[in-house]
Amino acid sequence: MNVKVGIPSALLYFLYFPMWQTFFKELGGVQVITSGKTTKEILDDGVREATADACVPVKLFYGHVLALKDRVDYLFIPRVVCLNCKTVYCPKFLGLPDMIRHSLAGLPPIIDTRMDSRQGYISILKAYCEIGRYFNAGRKTVWKACWKARHVLKRFNNLMQKGLSLPEAMAGLHKPYQEESRATEPSLLFAVLGYPYAIYDSFISAGLLEKLRHLGVRVITTENFHPRLLARQKNCNLSKRLFWTLSDLALKAAHLVFKQGQVDGVIHLTAFGCGPDSVLNKFIELEAKNHRHIPFMTLTIDEHSGEAGITTRLEAFVDMVRRRKEAVHA
Ligand code: SF4
Repeated sequence: MNVKVGIPSALLYFLYFPMWQTFFKELGGVQVITSGKTTKEILDDGVREATADACVPVKLFYGHVLALKDRVDYLFIPRVVCLNCKTVYCPKFLGLPDMIRHSLAGLPPIIDTRMDSRQGYISILKAYCEIGRYFNAGRKTVWKACWKARHVLKRFNNLMQKGLSLPEAMAGLHKPYQEESRATEPSLLFAVLGYPYAIYDSFISAGLLEKLRHLGVRVITTENFHPRLLARQKNCNLSKRLFWTLSDLALKAAHLVFKQGQVDGVIHLTAFGCGPDSVLNKFIELEAKNHRHIPFMTLTIDEHSGEAGITTRLEAFVDMVRRRKEAVHA
C-alpha cells in the first residue's frame, strides 16, 4: 500500500503538522504531501474560489487545497472543534471540511474526522482510530502511532518554549537542540501577537518576522510561552476566557507581556474579515492603554496587503520605539 495524504500548508498545519506527519508515517505505507509555501498563485486561486466574506487565512486554505488536490489520494481536513476540553476553535475551523467540499470540484476523498475533547480525551484517540480505518490500520497500530505523534508534538512545543521560532522548531525537530549563540544580540524585543497561520506565513504577513529581524528586533510569539504559564493569566481583566482557543491564547499572551513589561513593543497582527479578531483586538488595545510605556501597534493583513505599506509602517514603528528607548536610557 502506498497512499498519498495531502495536508494543506495553512491554518492548523502550523501547529500540528509535525504530529500529523508522524502519525500518518507510523501507520505504514502512507506518504504525506504538503502544498508547500504560499505563493501568489496559491493566494489568487484561494481568493477566486472562496466566499468573498471569508477571512484571508481561510481563503489561503482554499488555495492550498487547490495546489494539492490532483497530487493526492486523500485530503486531510479534520473538523477540529476542541483540543483542550475548555475552549473551541473558531467556527471556520468547524465548518472547514464542508466549505471546501461544497465549493471546490474534483476533490479526492476528504478525511474530515471530528476532534472534540469536550467528550473526554478518549474521544480524540477514537478520532485517530477512525482515521486509521481509512488505511486499514488496527487499533494497536493507531495507538502506537498516536503515542509517537504526541511525543513529536511535545518536542516541537518544547523547542518553541525554549525560544525557537515556529519554522526553526520544525526544522530542528530531528536534530539535537543547541542553544543559538548570537554574535550580535538584537537591540529590541517585540511581542508579535496573533494567529500562527498569519504570523508565520511569510507571504501573507508580507515577511513581517524577517523584516523585524532585519531591523534588529528579536520577536517572541504566543507559541514561545508555556501553555501552563498562559493558563494562569487573566484575560486582560475579563472575568472569563474567550470562547475561541487561539484568540484566548493570544489575549492571555498579551496580558502576560504587558504585565511582565520586558518587551520594547507589541504588535497585534490581525486578519481582515476575522470575527474573533474584532473582539480580541479591542481587548488587547484596552490592555495596551493601561501600559502606555510599551508602544503598541495593530497591523491588519488581507489579500491586498501591499508589502511597501507594511514595510513603511514597521520601519516607522521600530524607529519610534528605538528613539524612545534611547531617550529613556539617556
Ligand atoms: S480565527 Fe479569524 S483568522 Fe482564524 S480562521 Fe477564524 S475567522 Fe479566520
